[in-house]
Amino acid sequence: MINIQAALPKEQFEQLLLYLRSSSWLVLFRDFVCFIVVCRYLRVIEHYLITYGVSGSIHRLYRAVAGDFVASTMQLPLVRGAVQKQVDKALDEIDSKFVHRNGLPIHHEIPEKAINPKEISHIMKTLDTIKRSDWENGRLSGAVYHGGHDLLELQTKVYGQYTVANQLHPDCFPAVRHMDAEVVSMVLDLYNGPQGSCGTSTSGGTESLLLTCLAAREKAKAERGVTEPEIIAPVTIHAGFDKAAYYFGMKLIHAPVDKKTGKVSLKAVEKLIGPNTVLLAGSAPNFPHGIIDDIEGLSKIALKHRLPLHVDACLGSFIVPFLRDLGVDAPLFDFRVPGVTSISCDTHKYGFAPKGSSVIMYRTAELCHYQYFVSVDWSGGLYASPTLAGSRPGALMAGCWATLLYMGKDGYRETARAIVSSAQKLKTALRTHPVLAETLSVIGDPLGSVVAFQSKKVNVYDLSDTMSKKGWHLATLQNPASVHLAATRLTIESIDELIADLVASVETLISSGSETVKDGTKALYGVAGSVQTAGIAKALATGFVDALYKT
Ligand SMILES: *Cc1c(COP(=O)(O)O)cnc(C)c1O
Repeated sequence: MINIQAALPKEQFEQLLLYLRSSSWLVLFRDFVCFIVVCRYLRVIEHYLITYGVSGSIHRLYRAVAGDFVASTMQLPLVRGAVQKQVDKALDEIDSKFVHRNGLPIHHEIPEKAINPKEISHIMKTLDTIKRSDWENGRLSGAVYHGGHDLLELQTKVYGQYTVANQLHPDCFPAVRHMDAEVVSMVLDLYNGPQGSCGTSTSGGTESLLLTCLAAREKAKAERGVTEPEIIAPVTIHAGFDKAAYYFGMKLIHAPVDKKTGKVSLKAVEKLIGPNTVLLAGSAPNFPHGIIDDIEGLSKIALKHRLPLHVDACLGSFIVPFLRDLGVDAPLFDFRVPGVTSISCDTHKYGFAPKGSSVIMYRTAELCHYQYFVSVDWSGGLYASPTLAGSRPGALMAGCWATLLYMGKDGYRETARAIVSSAQKLKTALRTHPVLAETLSVIGDPLGSVVAFQSKKVNVYDLSDTMSKKGWHLATLQNPASVHLAATRLTIESIDELIADLVASVETLISSGSETVKDGTKALYGVAGSVQTAGIAKALATGFVDALYKT
C-alpha cells in the first residue's frame, strides 16, 4: 500500500481530503471512471512509444490517419469510380492468371451421366496442361516439400489403404490411432520433450498456431480471469497468429525486431507485457527472414512473468533439430529451454509428409487440455475432440507416419545437410560476390534453409520480376521490402544457376537505372501499390481469394 499522507505535501493532502469529503458519490464515481479511461489511453501511448520510439510512433500515427483519410476519400463518388477502375483492371489480371477456360472441360454441375475412370484420367491430363510454376526443377522458393519419388510412391500406397479412415473413430481405425500417437511421440522426442510432455497432430502449421493461442487464452481465463487476452510476438511471426487473434477475439501485439540481427527485441517484449498478456511467442526460424529468435532470452522473460512461451518451429520442422549435428553453431530453441511451454512443428514441410499435417506439442498435459473441446450435453452423445476439425483424414496421418519411419533420423539429417548448405551457399554469394555484395544485403545471419535479402541500390521487387522472367519464383516480402529463398530438396541442384541468374539480373537492373522501393509499397505479386492505395491492397487480396473459386 502507498501511504498517501506521507507521499503528498501536507497542503495537497488536505485539499485531497476536502475534495473527497465535499464531492457527492456520483461525482467521485464519474472522476474515478474518467481517471481509469485516461490511464488506459496513457498505457496505449506508452506502449507505442516503447515499441516504436518517438519517430516510429509519429510515423505510424501519420500512416493510420493518412489511411483513414484515404479510406474516406475513396468513398467519394468520383474517386471511388477512378479507384474502382484501377482495382477492376488488376482483378482482371489476377483472374486471367488463375482462371483458365480455353479448351478445358468445365463442370458447373455434377454430370448427369457418370464419367468412367479412363475419361476422368483424360480430363486430368488436360488440366495438367495449364501453365504453372516450374516447381519440379527447383525454380521456386519453398512451397513444394518433395521427399523424392520413392517416398511419394510409398505415401500413395499407404494413403490408398486408409482412404476411408477417420481419427474421430479410433474404435474403427485403431491402427491409425496408433500411428497418430507414435507420430506425436516421435516429434516430441526430436524436440526433447520432457517427461509428461504431450501434443496432438493437426492439419497444418496454421491450425497448430490457432490451437496454441486458444489454449493460452483459455488458461489465462481460467486461472487469472483475463477477458481481453493479448499475445506478444515479433513482427516477423507468421500470419497464423494474426488469424488466431482474428478468430478468437484476441489482440496480437507485435514487438519490433533488431535491425541488425533480425531477432525480436527482448527489451521491447518485456516492456509490452501487461495484465492482459496471455502468451509470448518466438520463431525458430521465422518465415520472412529465416532468423531464429533468442528463445533462451524469451524464456527468461516468460519465466519471470509466469507466462507461457510458444516456439513456432513450423518452418524449422525437420531442419533446426539437426543444425547442431551439421556443425552449425545454433542456439537452443526446444523444450531444453525451461520457459518454452509449447512448440509447433510442420511434418508437411521439411518432414516431407503429405500436405495437411503438423504437430502441436505442450510441456504439460494441463496446458494441452485447454485446446480440447468437450461437450457433455449434446443430444448426439458425449463429444470430445482434440483439434479444430471434427472428422480427420486418417489417410494423411498414415502417410505422415510412414514418412517418418521411411526417412529415419539419418535420412532427415542428410537432407537437412544438403538443403542448409545450398541456402548457405546463397548467403555466402550474397555477401562475397562482387556484384551481389555491392547491391544486396542479407537480413541478419540466417543459419538454416531460408535466406532473405534487401537492397539500398535497386528495387528488389523489380529484381524479383526480372528473376521471374528467367523462370524463378522467389518470395517477395515487405517491411522491409525484401525477397527470400526457402531452399528445399528440389532447389539443391539449381542453386548455382540461381546465383548466376541473380548476378545477371542485378547487372541488368543497374544498367537500366532501377531505383529502390518506395516506402509503403505492398508486396503483391508484381502489382505495386503505395501506402496511398492501402485500400486497394485489401480489395486485391480479397479478389485474389475470390478468383480461387471461379469456374
Ligand atoms: C508455413 C509456416 C506456418 C504455417 O503453416 P501452414 O502449414 O501453411 O498452415 C507457420 N509458421 C511458419 C514460420 C511457417 O513457415
